[in-house]
Amino acid sequence: LAIPGGGQDSPTRLTTMETLGATVLVCTPSYALHLLQVARERGVDPARLPVRVTLHAGEPGAGIPSVRARIEAGWGARAFDHGGMTEMGAYGYECEAQAGLHVNESEFVAEVIDPATGAPASEGELVLTNLGRLGSPLVRYRTGDRVRLARSPCGCGRTFARLEGGILGRLDDMLIVRGVNLFPSAIEAIVRRFPVEEFQIEIFRAGELDEVRVLVEVDGGADGARHVQDALRAGLGIRMEVAPVGPGSLPRFELKARRVVRR
Ligand SMILES: [Zn+2]
Repeated sequence: LAIPGGGQDSPTRLTTMETLGATVLVCTPSYALHLLQVARERGVDPARLPVRVTLHAGEPGAGIPSVRARIEAGWGARAFDHGGMTEMGAYGYECEAQAGLHVNESEFVAEVIDPATGAPASEGELVLTNLGRLGSPLVRYRTGDRVRLARSPCGCGRTFARLEGGILGRLDDMLIVRGVNLFPSAIEAIVRRFPVEEFQIEIFRAGELDEVRVLVEVDGGADGARHVQDALRAGLGIRMEVAPVGPGSLPRFELKARRVVRR
């Protein structure tokens, strides 16, 4: 039985899940995290609900280790990534080894190219051809998604290629900060290691250059923010300001999160 949650608010969805004993939760990674918070505010421990699997699409999150770990710990479940596009179809899934998105190569042909030159690459833009959609065939469709393709055998025994780390980001989401190419997902991977409830990446112009500031709802206020800032510097090699903001002050998202804001 699939229970549609559209049109309900978060407390109603939670109550429905509790009442019907839902065992699988399908949503964006951001919403899985948000629903955890809503549950705790209502005195419900989500790990005690019968949810055993969470399945995520729409954002990179489930392929980011720190995000996955937080979803799994909070829900007491295993979190799996899923890949699909409206125009292309559902082309990828994660197996029990959780070693990246397997491309369903009996239905899709996956190629990876350097987006600037079009030459084959191991990391670059994902190009897909669907073989099974008679009403919507797409041949060598440039997805705009950045991926890293692995053809080595998977622990699960499947031979389908894998996109390591899932979708790494949208090519047009890439930030250039003081000459360093940076995806918002790389920032999220580090921010989510800390007790950060929500965050936002602000891009603003400083002279001729783009600068980045990260706003965090973090335990520990200024000290907490400084720990995040140090980790970003160590992990990404660039200094960016991290500023603490009050709990609940940043927007929450039910569908695709929009955490990058240009000022
Ligand atoms: Zn596998």
